Amino acid sequence: MRTITLSDGVTTLPVLGQGTWQMGFRWYRRRREVAALRLGLDLGLTCIDTAESYADGGAERVVAEAIAGERDRAFVVTKVNGDGATRARVAEACEASLRRLRIDAIDLYLLHWRGEVPLAETVEAFEKLRAEGKIKRWGTSNFDLADLQELGPGACAINQILYHPEARGIEFDLLPWSEQRGLPTMAYSPLGQAGSLLRHPTMIAIAKAREVTPAQVALAWGLRRPGVMSIPKASRPEHVRANVAALDFQLTNADLAQIDAALPPPRDKQKLVIW
Ligand code: NDP
Repeated sequence: MRTITLSDGVTTLPVLGQGTWQMGFRWYRRRREVAALRLGLDLGLTCIDTAESYADGGAERVVAEAIAGERDRAFVVTKVNGDGATRARVAEACEASLRRLRIDAIDLYLLHWRGEVPLAETVEAFEKLRAEGKIKRWGTSNFDLADLQELGPGACAINQILYHPEARGIEFDLLPWSEQRGLPTMAYSPLGQAGSLLRHPTMIAIAKAREVTPAQVALAWGLRRPGVMSIPKASRPEHVRANVAALDFQLTNADLAQIDAALPPPRDKQKLVIW
């Protein structure tokens, strides 16, 4: 599978991972959610994204079940809430996530959003966790260009942000800036918020013409940029398989022009859109 390289210049991840938002809420869906993540792991979607806030820790518990006995194959990403990310809170939150995930170290720990705590304090907390071996690396989520500039060059491994054809404002500044600096982007909600792209007439038209699905068009669109990976959430096995199959599909210049006509790229700075 095609990979992207984290900002350390060494660690690589498959360009397609798995999301878990909305997993872990209902006990009767749990078996299906675990099975979907397992299937994804088997098919090479080894990067699994979760957060302490998803289902109030429930999604992390689903991930724990999915990776049980498969720890070496999985790359686990979780997030600490942005509000109140102080030294003490980050340390506590990390311990709680480790317990729910039933692992010794988090592969990538993200600050879920920019809160009111000074960045330097949160970064110090992350670095302490790294020194203690509780996290292997850290990164950001929902950081706009000014936030990354304030963070400065350094150890941030990746920035996880909203990116899909209906939310492409980052192409004006944040994405090129990140690409130039070797900072990869993890695109969330790649199928559009609430699945909006699955019903978009342009996605449907291209999908029909190319004999794929609108979801595969949307995924191929995000993955056309070399510095971008994508983390669709799928709890149905047929969706997991379809997402993997999207890796074999590429949009033509004509397809891309059709998308640009319907959903034009930004012409000026747009504030980063958050979920
Ligand atoms: P997605 O764009 O991944 O869409 C998920 C929806 O699409 C689900 O209803 C899923 O159905 C469906 N789906 C998945 N694959 C297919 C397919 N091949 N064909 C048709 N439908 C499909 O939305 P999310 O908002 O979940 O984003 C992905 C992940 O990004 C999250 O799960 C989370 O991990 C992360 N995220 C991070 C945020 C942040 O602030 N950092 C904010 C939001 C998300 P089904 O489940 O039934 O298979």
